[in-house]
Amino acid sequence: MTMDITSRSPCEYKVGALIHDKKGVVAVGWNNAWHGLGIHAEAHAVMRSNRARLRGATITIAGRRCGWIYSRPCEACQALIDKWGLNVEFYDGQQWMIG
Ligand SMILES: [Zn+2]
Repeated sequence: MTMDITSRSPCEYKVGALIHDKKGVVAVGWNNAWHGLGIHAEAHAVMRSNRARLRGATITIAGRRCGWIYSRPCEACQALIDKWGLNVEFYDGQQWMIG
């Protein structure tokens, strides 16, 4: 199934994150408003992940506003990424293949 994660985001500025490891997709996340607080795609994906598979996995981040943009993790997300030892890569177009 092909899914465009960034289209799930209700925000104008859409960011999607996909965590994957050798076995495949661990979790996906997108930026969102949750309990009145903005939640970033990276943090959302980490929250949804199986912790056992997080360490050493790769997180791919995509941003879109009209066209595709590169979206770098903010300080808080970067801290989370460092904590779990995630590798970061950026995505610049075409849809993610999931599942
Ligand atoms: Zn962030």
